[in-house]
Amino acid sequence: MAGPRVVIIGAGVVGAAVADEVSARGWSDVTVVDQGPLPATGGSSSHAPGLVFQTNPSRTMTGMARDTVAKFGSLDVDGRPCFLPVGGLEVATSPERLAELHRRHGWLTAWGVEGRVVGPEECVALHPLLDRERVLGGLHVPGDGLADAVLAVEAQIRAARSRGVRFLPGHEVLDVRTANGRVAGVVTDRGEIPADVVVCCAGIWGPRVARMVGMELPLVPLAHQLAWTGPVPALAGQADEAVRPILRHQDADLYFRDRFDRLGIGSYGHRPMPVSPDAIASVADAEVMPSVLRFTEGDFADAWAETRALLPATREAKIEEGINGLFSFTPDGMPLLGESCDVRGFWVAEAVWVTHSAGVGRAMAEWLVDGHCSSYDLHECDVNRFEDHQLSPQYVTARGCRNFAEVYDIIHPLQPAGEPRPLRTSPFHPRQEALGAVFLEASGWERPQWYESNARLSAGRSVPTPNEWAARYWSPVVGAEALVTRETVALYDMSSLKRIEVTGRGAVGYLERLTTGVMDKSVGSVTYTLMLDEDAGIRGDITVARLGPDRFQVGAGGNLDLDWLRGHLPDDGSVVLRDVTAGTCCVGLWGPRALEVLAPLADRDFSDAALRYFRTRPAYVGPVPVTAMRLSYVGELGWELYTTADLGLRLWDTLYEAVVAHGGIAAGRGAFNSLRLEKGYRAFGTDMTFEHDPYEAGLGFAVRAGKTGFVGQAALERRRERVRRRLTCLTVDDPVSVVMGKEPVLDGSRPVGYVTSAAFGHTIGKGIAYAWLPAELAVPGRELTIRYFDRDVPARVAEEPLFDPSMSRMRGTPRTSAPGDVTPPVVTR
Ligand SMILES: Cc1cc2nc3c(=O)[nH]c(=O)nc-3n(C[C@H](O)[C@H](O)[C@H](O)COP(=O)(O)OP(=O)(O)OC[C@H]3O[C@@H](n4cnc5c(N)ncnc54)[C@H](O)[C@@H]3O)c2cc1C
Repeated sequence: MAGPRVVIIGAGVVGAAVADEVSARGWSDVTVVDQGPLPATGGSSSHAPGLVFQTNPSRTMTGMARDTVAKFGSLDVDGRPCFLPVGGLEVATSPERLAELHRRHGWLTAWGVEGRVVGPEECVALHPLLDRERVLGGLHVPGDGLADAVLAVEAQIRAARSRGVRFLPGHEVLDVRTANGRVAGVVTDRGEIPADVVVCCAGIWGPRVARMVGMELPLVPLAHQLAWTGPVPALAGQADEAVRPILRHQDADLYFRDRFDRLGIGSYGHRPMPVSPDAIASVADAEVMPSVLRFTEGDFADAWAETRALLPATREAKIEEGINGLFSFTPDGMPLLGESCDVRGFWVAEAVWVTHSAGVGRAMAEWLVDGHCSSYDLHECDVNRFEDHQLSPQYVTARGCRNFAEVYDIIHPLQPAGEPRPLRTSPFHPRQEALGAVFLEASGWERPQWYESNARLSAGRSVPTPNEWAARYWSPVVGAEALVTRETVALYDMSSLKRIEVTGRGAVGYLERLTTGVMDKSVGSVTYTLMLDEDAGIRGDITVARLGPDRFQVGAGGNLDLDWLRGHLPDDGSVVLRDVTAGTCCVGLWGPRALEVLAPLADRDFSDAALRYFRTRPAYVGPVPVTAMRLSYVGELGWELYTTADLGLRLWDTLYEAVVAHGGIAAGRGAFNSLRLEKGYRAFGTDMTFEHDPYEAGLGFAVRAGKTGFVGQAALERRRERVRRRLTCLTVDDPVSVVMGKEPVLDGSRPVGYVTSAAFGHTIGKGIAYAWLPAELAVPGRELTIRYFDRDVPARVAEEPLFDPSMSRMRGTPRTSAPGDVTPPVVTR
């Protein structure tokens, strides 16, 4: 199988890996072009010091790093190894960092990589240049090490060449030809090359190349300082290139590696130095090479002082050489992988470190050749994950610079990104500000986490204070808001959910083909359903409301859903998609008194008989036209009420006044998250992702029995019989030990899984943690532990949902009571 005609732009460590991996899977009509010479092209790979630290909060990135270590460990060029397995050591010089190293060790354990937190003596034994007095401990990962990126490029080029791949150095791509919305070839300074598939692995030049097909790539090159000492007397006579582990001193934004009797020192402590991709020197004009700028010594002064403090032996040495080397940063620090949604056949593999490069090569090859990637979950890496504002140069530069500055910082899972903010606000924003909303950010949306105006509600309620880490971006008000929602009624701003209108004569068939549910139901139906990929991995969970015979509203999670829907549109124009999120808004009105709030304001009957669970209808709330959907993520009676953005404020004001009159409140995302977990409602991207099928994820109910002809159906039937892991509900009795997600779960001392979402369940009075576990352990009552920093927290597998399993609250007849009656209803368990 020669496969399609492929042109890979860039022969750095990423392009070489992609060429190697696609050719290994049988595609041989592959041409790799690079403007520079081979194998040191002049790109970032040509000067990277090659430190491979595998520890990462992302399971996918850790997996890619692990696979890069394995692959590079097996490669050599004429006997010269591409990887030196010297191990990695991250040291702590502050108590906060030491705690962070325990958290990082937790990720390693969760993702299946060996590592250990060690004391200061062992740190010094591992790396004798360390000052024992400054070090409080370290995280040692024996499998980390040093990659020689140029050798790895050479080795992968040789392997690819042996399968027929052509490499064309000294060819600059000037344009990418397209025809009928597809790539047709590339134009180089030395002629044209026809292509069915173009893969842009152009590193810091990526945005320039992507713009050739009109694609905005959210990537900014930043200069990063790398210096080399002269001989260090204490290292005199070191015959091997590297004997000590690669070293990180994150408290001072520094890393170190051996090079015989010298040290390489990398620093992220200096001012961010972004460079426009258009300002990068050409191969011909560059002083050293295009990705290397002149070393600005003054920016390195603090780094050098810190180096001499941590590694006293370097006081006898001098800095002999240095560079300001360019590499790529993105708004969320993750790579950019995948196909353009506008120009088919144009793929990118960008913003990838050496550390993850072989894994990325494999991921891209699987995706290209098989149509999906089975080795990794790529939802965090998909290039189409961004909203439009996130593609603006100003945003990309601001976030890229911030990510550079924070690359070694201790980042709390809820910590919102800084500037530029605020960006997206719902129409309710002024009222939320007036209520003292504490905003966090998601996809640019400002979302109230809680409202300070509800602080008085904490009085007299038992809301336990969690441990110090979990108590950040938290307030007892979160608990009070959750409890008030269950007792009376609350307003939730749900505007940040993506809303997609699907219209046209082909809409029913199109949605039928893309989802696991039945779409050809009566107008007014709402269906919770799943979109699967060909391998039956969950692409997204959506609600589909039939608003008319040929008109649907899809409630989606984000841009990946929109991209998936777009990518499957029929060619005949019979279906039209419109992202209506920005022009509309949504408020969730939920709680046992929701009907009492709504009934007097609405022109239609909202009783259970008139609008059943999972049904939708248009109505007026006061003067505001709404689409009301009877569903709830918090497990209470109520409706999502949608209207246009211009009328949003009026809708909020109308409802809020009535809500307050019934003892209710506006409530934030903190309460929402706790309530959804009590009900066992999964969140895509956190609880389940592309790698999981519906049965494992506990979403088998969303697959309509007997339905055929939808994407992923064949694979789903196979996977149904092979459920080996399950998304499982755990409870934690200790109210202080609230965990945050990504912690390892242990059976005795054996790591068996990892936490996805977690929160304290205020109604049930326990901590809740959802976790992926082997199916045989997902048995109610099973005792396990969750490793949280350096502590083991006892947890127990629980039957789910934890709250209202009979669904009486959501489905049941709304209760009637006198205004002002705020007695909490009886909780079912
Ligand atoms: C100082 C420094 C230290 C680093 N340290 C580490 C580290 O320790 N560990 C780690 O994992 N990562 C490190 N990195 C990051 C790492 O080097 C890069 O992320 C990685 O090398 C990027 O590889 P790439 O193949 O995407 O890009 P590149 O190696 O830059 O390759 C892109 C290629 O595309 C070619 N190209 C671009 N445009 C065109 C065109 N129009 N026509 C033809 N060819 C084109 C270029 O010539 C280039 O060869 C470091 C980076 C720097 C700058």
